[in-house]
Amino acid sequence: MRVAEVDRPGAPIEISDRPVPEPADGQVRVAVEACGVCHSDVFAKEGNWPGIEYPRVPGHEVAGRIDAVGADVSGWAVGDRVGVGWHGEHCFECEPCRRGEFIDCEHEAVTGIDTDGGYAEYLTAPTHALARIPDELDTVEAAPLLCAGVSTFNALRKSDARPGDIAAVQGLGGLGHLGVQFAAAAGLETVAISRGTEKRDLAFDLGADHYVDATATDPADALQEVGGAAVILSTAPSSEAIESVLGGLGIDGQLYPLGVPDEPIGVEIPTLITNQRSIHGHSSGTARDSQDTLEFAAHQSITPTVETFSLEDAATAYDRMMDGDVTGRAVLVP
Ligand SMILES: [Zn+2]
Ligand SMILES: [Zn+2]
Repeated sequence: MRVAEVDRPGAPIEISDRPVPEPADGQVRVAVEACGVCHSDVFAKEGNWPGIEYPRVPGHEVAGRIDAVGADVSGWAVGDRVGVGWHGEHCFECEPCRRGEFIDCEHEAVTGIDTDGGYAEYLTAPTHALARIPDELDTVEAAPLLCAGVSTFNALRKSDARPGDIAAVQGLGGLGHLGVQFAAAAGLETVAISRGTEKRDLAFDLGADHYVDATATDPADALQEVGGAAVILSTAPSSEAIESVLGGLGIDGQLYPLGVPDEPIGVEIPTLITNQRSIHGHSSGTARDSQDTLEFAAHQSITPTVETFSLEDAATAYDRMMDGDVTGRAVLVP
């Protein structure tokens, strides 16, 4: 099979040939039909992840069809349409797993970082990492929902925001353009925040009720003008961007930083004390969370905007994503 892999930390993403993997006990093999390109693929590309081994095939927004089933697998069959996201494996035995918090498993395997991911024609995954793709969803459109989608959807539903509350989504890229659609579909008064006016029309097309150009208006002031946000999803991997919106939270407002900046954020404690604001750590979600996301998207007719690339163009797709030069999500179609 063909894969797009990284041979060592910082090396370019290159095409190579490998044997098609066989599914182990409890695993299936997925014939990949689409794989989204996420900013967190940077960990596989640059190697700044504890214990990562090379060569490594990145990719954790994988959608396809089961084409082989290992021993001890029930409930899943050849031909089933499935997705595999960031959370690729948990141990069922550590303390977080014993408490049912599989996402916090001490032995979590992250797809495309700890195991080979979806920049490939095939990958193997344990059945507990599989999300079932509803018939209504196109495979290419399902792929970005497996990280960008579940990250935003799951953060919204974990927050205390309720229909009618104000939700702000900062950034309108891969995560943000889905976050706006989920927030609007959930009955939240939705504020999209981006830099410049270029994405203004897009924001309203996605269902936003308000648009804030952060280069022209202070985004925290703008949020306070509409009543203060119950929840803010900050999707831009920029500390400065996160700091700029914190003051826009209303009473008991919660900020979920979903983008991962390289540098720490600076927080003025009085900003947190005022309105009893909080910042919540949040990882994407388990396979069942991903399946909930897919089902909600199918039910609400939410679709990601995608730009497709061939597997051979994986390096180009990755570079374009890093440059912020993709409308919606870059998706590899092998
Ligand atoms: Zn991701
Ligand atoms: Zn565990």
